[in-house]
Amino acid sequence: MSAPLPTSVHVSALTHRARLARESFDVVVIGGGINGCGIARDAAMRGLSVALIEQDDFGSGTSGRTSRLVHGGLRYLEHGRLGLVRESRRERATLMRIAPHLVEPLRFTWPVYGGSRVSTRRLGAGLTLYDLLSLSRPGRWHERLSSGEVLAREPALKHTGLSGGGAYFDSSTDDSRLTLANALSAAYWNAVVVNHMRAETRRGGAGHEAWLTDGITGERFSIAARVVVRALGPWTSAAEHSKGSHIAVDRSRVGNRDAIALLSPLDGRVMFILPSGSQTIIGTTEVLTRAGPDQVRASESEVAYLIESANAYLADARLRRSDVISAWAGLRPLVAVPAGANPSTASREHLIERGADGTITITGGKLTTYRAVAEEVVDAVQVALEMRKTRSRTAAEALPGADRSSVIEEIIRAHPQTGIDLGANSGVRAADLIYSVRHEHALTLSDLLIRRTLAAFRARDHAVSLASPAADVVAPLLGWTAEMKETAIANYARDIARVFTIDPA
Ligand SMILES: Cc1cc2nc3c(=O)[nH]c(=O)nc-3n(C[C@H](O)[C@H](O)[C@H](O)COP(=O)(O)OP(=O)(O)OC[C@H]3O[C@@H](n4cnc5c(N)ncnc54)[C@H](O)[C@@H]3O)c2cc1C
Repeated sequence: MSAPLPTSVHVSALTHRARLARESFDVVVIGGGINGCGIARDAAMRGLSVALIEQDDFGSGTSGRTSRLVHGGLRYLEHGRLGLVRESRRERATLMRIAPHLVEPLRFTWPVYGGSRVSTRRLGAGLTLYDLLSLSRPGRWHERLSSGEVLAREPALKHTGLSGGGAYFDSSTDDSRLTLANALSAAYWNAVVVNHMRAETRRGGAGHEAWLTDGITGERFSIAARVVVRALGPWTSAAEHSKGSHIAVDRSRVGNRDAIALLSPLDGRVMFILPSGSQTIIGTTEVLTRAGPDQVRASESEVAYLIESANAYLADARLRRSDVISAWAGLRPLVAVPAGANPSTASREHLIERGADGTITITGGKLTTYRAVAEEVVDAVQVALEMRKTRSRTAAEALPGADRSSVIEEIIRAHPQTGIDLGANSGVRAADLIYSVRHEHALTLSDLLIRRTLAAFRARDHAVSLASPAADVVAPLLGWTAEMKETAIANYARDIARVFTIDPA
């Protein structure tokens, strides 16, 4: 017989909350996207006392709405952005070394059809340059393909007009888990990392005061910091942003084996058809919007654009609106989009600014290059602290999480009932949730079902049917009463509507 489930356990998020009010910090990092989490990790590894404060959950902003690629950005070659491509290729190699459990090689096929803006010759030259810009050997190089070879790799592609193509490697990741891994690593190096806590800062005396509002309890209090870093992504300013949307469909409807890069026949932009387990993700769009980051959603016109673009390349799929399982959007925190510029050509690089109030703000970057950006920001923090600059060690130390499956298996061995699927083939077990509450700072059903398990992306009902059984599992761990459980389920439904509803426009 299995042991009863322990109800009084170490819950990572609650331990950190308790420390927050007791300690003072060299640096408070506001914003738990990839940039903020990477900065907190780097600063903590250099021995600074660090607090990382996120108003929602780690990776709930742009960093959880990406194409989930760690990539050099082949398309940046067209705009001559060789430095960005070189840095991205180098960072890809670093991330594959320090996080092989999160960053995996992904093969892309790029088919070329007659009359395409990018000919087979131009593609071949681009791929050669792409390899050359990879300073460290990726292990596998690109290949030029005949039309027969393209179809042997991706039989779902249209045959008519195909003149050849190329194959190359980039990497796929789980964006919110990569973000979380950085927060957890920061915590390992003694940073206090807290989600569901909103911060506002004020200059006070020798340093700064950060006023915090606990999103779970409503409690308000302040903490002291010598330096404040604002890594707020698109929350930095109210300006126009570039919105990118993705759709997920059943992979059997598309039939892609690996990833496919294509040029949309509608506007010539580079798009991707990406494998994601039993699903295929198609993205992304790129449209200017004034929608705020809390409200950003995919629209019907973007969904139609993605379907039409993909169908133009697929022989038999004939995807329809009803094939769309989920659709979501993120805002690219572009550094600057000059008036009248096409957002595709605008800068993807980052900007580090020291404000008049002494706070340091980081804007832009890519998921792929966050580690290098964090290194630069922490150098600036050390200057602001008037201390000797020390070397970043983030490229040398592994990111945590490689043992996650084995720890979950241990939970199941001790409590076999936690290994049963909570739904019908949802892929979510009680043990997964218990692990995330204990070790991964999960505090809400959205943390669990949207980001720790990705269940909300995979199911047509966005895992709303799992909310109640999931609440039953975590309620004893998080001390939820029956009333709190009901509130948690209602909050989940609200978050799902906010993220996954498709705007009629
Ligand atoms: C559609 C799309 C696809 C992309 N695909 C890729 C890709 O495949 N590969 C790649 O390398 N890059 C990709 N990018 C770029 C990449 O996602 C971003 O550069 C990166 O995620 C930005 O991270 P960030 O930390 O700056 O912002 P965010 O992830 O948005 O983080 C900012 C955080 O600050 C928090 N915050 C805001 N205000 C407060 C406050 N007052 N108190 C506390 N917290 C606060 C927010 O809740 C948020 O979590 C993509 C971007 C988009 C939009």
